[in-house]
Amino acid sequence: LTPTPAGDPRALEVLSTVFGYDSFRGEQAQIIDQVIGGGDAVVLMPTGGGKSLCYQIPSLIRPGTGIVISPLIALMADQVAALEANGIRAAYLNSTLEMHEAQAVEQQLLAGEVDLLYMAPERLVLPRTVQLLQRAELALFAIDEAHCVAQWGHDFRPDYLGLSMLAETFPDVPRIALTATATRETHREITENLRMQDAAHFVSSFDRPNIQYRIDPKASPREQLLRLIRSEHPGEAGIVYCLSRKGVEQTAAWLAERDVAALPYHAGLDAAVRHDHQERFLREDGLVIVATIAFGMGIDKPDVRFVAHLDLPKSIEGYYQETGRAGRDGQPSTAWMAYGLGDLVSQRRFIDTGEGSEPFKRNARAHLDAMLALCETVTCRRVQLLHYFGQESDPCGNCDVCLNPPSTWDATVPAQKLLSALIRLDRERGQQFGSGQVIDVLRGKDNERSAQSRHQELSVWGIGEDLSEREWRTVLRQLLSRRIVEAIGEYGVLVPGEHAGPVLRGEVTVELAVDRSPAKAPRSRGA
Ligand code: ADP
Ligand code: ZN
Repeated sequence: LTPTPAGDPRALEVLSTVFGYDSFRGEQAQIIDQVIGGGDAVVLMPTGGGKSLCYQIPSLIRPGTGIVISPLIALMADQVAALEANGIRAAYLNSTLEMHEAQAVEQQLLAGEVDLLYMAPERLVLPRTVQLLQRAELALFAIDEAHCVAQWGHDFRPDYLGLSMLAETFPDVPRIALTATATRETHREITENLRMQDAAHFVSSFDRPNIQYRIDPKASPREQLLRLIRSEHPGEAGIVYCLSRKGVEQTAAWLAERDVAALPYHAGLDAAVRHDHQERFLREDGLVIVATIAFGMGIDKPDVRFVAHLDLPKSIEGYYQETGRAGRDGQPSTAWMAYGLGDLVSQRRFIDTGEGSEPFKRNARAHLDAMLALCETVTCRRVQLLHYFGQESDPCGNCDVCLNPPSTWDATVPAQKLLSALIRLDRERGQQFGSGQVIDVLRGKDNERSAQSRHQELSVWGIGEDLSEREWRTVLRQLLSRRIVEAIGEYGVLVPGEHAGPVLRGEVTVELAVDRSPAKAPRSRGA
């Protein structure tokens, strides 16, 4: 392979005079050349990889205006302000503008006075906008967050499908589609749905070597988080993701009471408060933002030192995008998550009892299962993550599994005991229970329900006394993630799973990981 020289000298010139950088990163130079030359490009690059320059520089070099399509209306004003600070003539068209403001932008566009113009897809596809753009000179179309066009992805937005018209309506204007999501399936959908078959494809390495990935068993998540902040990231900026708005508010208040400068962020907060918290997080040093996943898309803060998940994300795509907001400056950073049995059960239940067609649910389950496999892996987390994105790699030496390999044990007998207990309870009592009651039966722990149903008379009563309740929960979590046991229905009752048969018949052994103690953080290796 001959390395492609950084082609167009004008690109390097703009990089230094306008943006103040002296060299291109990764494949930026090749991507920019492709677009300057009038070709289409599909760009898969991790968060923080430097996608923006890939369309900003060609927009400045090619005659006419670069149209940037983004779903993030709330961020457009900030993005434009940041460009203007670099002396770039940027503008946006969206519903937040007054009529006369929008008209002024349209005039500037037609007069060739705008280098970059941002708008959302639903605006672009309006006949009125299409006619406007046909009268303007256009440098390119940049389709940001292009994974939103993938119908089976995690962030589908129907408005993106309308963008397929660009190929026909503006055949002479180059298009560049960019995303930080890179499964093969998403890549294929972007190519097909945006009609990018003739584009050049640029797939960067998705590795973020400076991020240390760690997943701990969930015990008391806020305490665990506080320990992480105090021992490894005191006074540093971080993002803490929670599933619910209530979780966000409680966690932010709890941290603030313990002298961690923490601010809540979720879609239910007043827009002004939300904006204020986001601004403070970006501008002030060392703030922790506690947020739902509503926070973060398009946020560019280079020195986020940790991203913490107190609840299980729904997919690896989401998890990788969220954790990718750590360490954009390349300095050592932590992606930490607390994960427990309850997360697994409630997420599966959420899918099973939620809205949506059967194919939709099947897709959601597949996403969740991949996430669970990452949580339960006994091999390098980074190898798993990158494999998911279609990239092979060696054990990284900078994740919790590499730094502190879990020991495994033969849990075949406990797995058989647990399955037998489920079967006996069902056959002899016609009962199905959630984890608490099943573990009590295994451990022979008296409670009201067992007394009423005479569980003490069952042959499985107390056969699992040798394991503590916590150990049983660990076993159960791993059996659930491998579908040896399933939790079903509204109450998450346990039943033998699709892989239970061979375990019960003793045809396979069940190797499980011993939970690492959540108290011990692996030593950071530094950069
Ligand atoms: P992405 O959109 O891929 O998440 P950005 O375009 O926001 O990434 O870039 C991430 C950060 O890296 C930004 O602060 C950007 O200014 C910086 N950056 C991008 N390209 C370069 C480069 N060639 N040299 C130095 N910094 C760069
Ligand atoms: Zn590793």
